[in-house]
Amino acid sequence: MIWNPTKECMSREQMRELQGKRLHKIVEYVYHNVPFYRNKLQEMDLSPADIRTIDDIVKLPFTTKKDLRDNYPFGLQAAPQSEIIRIHASSGTTGNPTIVGYTRKDISIWSECMARSLTSFGVTRNDIFSVSYGYGLFTGGLGAHNGVETIGASVVPASTGNTEKHARLIRDLGITGIACTPSYALYLAETMDKLGISKDQIKLRVGAFGAEPWTENMRTEIQNRLGLKGFNIYGLSEIMGPSVSYECEEQNGSHINEDHFFPEIIDPVTLEPLEPGQTGELVFTTLTKEGMPVIRYRTRDLCSLIPGECPCGRTNVRMSAIQGRTDDMLIIRGINVFPSQVESVVLTMEEFAPVYMLIVDRVNNLDTLMVQVELRPDYFNATLDTPAAISELEKRFADKLRSVLSISAKVQIKAPGTIERSEGKSKHVIDKRQLF
Ligand code: ADP
Ligand code: ZN
Repeated sequence: MIWNPTKECMSREQMRELQGKRLHKIVEYVYHNVPFYRNKLQEMDLSPADIRTIDDIVKLPFTTKKDLRDNYPFGLQAAPQSEIIRIHASSGTTGNPTIVGYTRKDISIWSECMARSLTSFGVTRNDIFSVSYGYGLFTGGLGAHNGVETIGASVVPASTGNTEKHARLIRDLGITGIACTPSYALYLAETMDKLGISKDQIKLRVGAFGAEPWTENMRTEIQNRLGLKGFNIYGLSEIMGPSVSYECEEQNGSHINEDHFFPEIIDPVTLEPLEPGQTGELVFTTLTKEGMPVIRYRTRDLCSLIPGECPCGRTNVRMSAIQGRTDDMLIIRGINVFPSQVESVVLTMEEFAPVYMLIVDRVNNLDTLMVQVELRPDYFNATLDTPAAISELEKRFADKLRSVLSISAKVQIKAPGTIERSEGKSKHVIDKRQLF
């Protein structure tokens, strides 16, 4: 099913024309309402009249997370405060959080995009749908919530926390759909195991998973354990929140809501645009946002765009899975390392639970990498009861890691449940080097 065929299945020419018109309008809007953008454009000798078609977008300056922080809290807001009906803030682990204000129209467009995503996952008004993203300043909870209500399914605002109660509700209410982070889905599966709730006692059939990178192996694992089909949903608060893009039944990339968010891929070093299919940094321009529009926002997410028709009938361009963040990328002894690479190895080994941590340090001016991973309870109890068996497993894991990462890592195999779990976005790196 397609929620809004007019907007999701437009011809490419129509889409580009619409994007061009909207781009001109948004540039004019920020030029007159946000001194930050006016100054930047004036410095470059540009005026809104120079931006006529979507191809003109490359003339515009980029906006970075630092620009958002420097203008904390409301410096980039374009609408008057009286028009703002909701304020979210993104995590802000380093420095000021990013504050994003939404007008009534922004919230309604967000709900529409969320409804497109959920419909694409097969959710209908007949579903009972649990939202287990955190409610609060984080955009996940309320964002998904509005989408479920827009479709008319019954929303259960479970949020995160109190997972045992949630697991029982999933069984007792016959909950059919869930939105949460992929790591929370696994945590939920563990909790159900602990409570003795089996797959055939529950009715979950659809999962909307996002807010953090995940792999195909992880998808298989979640699907097997919860008995549902898992779909990717992507978003970020600076642009809107969840549902900037979403998978369809083909599950070959996520369709971008291009009539609202215009994507580009650039080389993160030269800042030059890259060809379709090439991997680089994803950049978004909001084409319709009123509260806090952003022009060419550098997301720091690495992925590629997949052009061409999709058998599902949607014509909106797709983005590949996120392959890392420019700022999550670890440089260890000069080699780029992404936590997702470690995850892909962990998931190929049946002895391990999908719970791991990278610990990076610097000893005598040399970077060191240690990877901790947890054993599955059944292996811990039965098979691996001798030191020789453990060291054989360690060696096998270390060898596999070296071939994927191109550097060697120390490995440490931990007992089940000993690596800290997170209910929101999972944390996979402890960097003790203090390089900055
Ligand atoms: P932040 O984490 O910067 O505080 P958000 O909470 O808005 O901001 O999170 C947005 C980020 O989360 C994205 O830029 C991206 O890195 C990550 N993210 C969101 N959805 C997905 C997804 N489906 N796959 C991979 N990464 C995702
Ligand atoms: Zn499709």
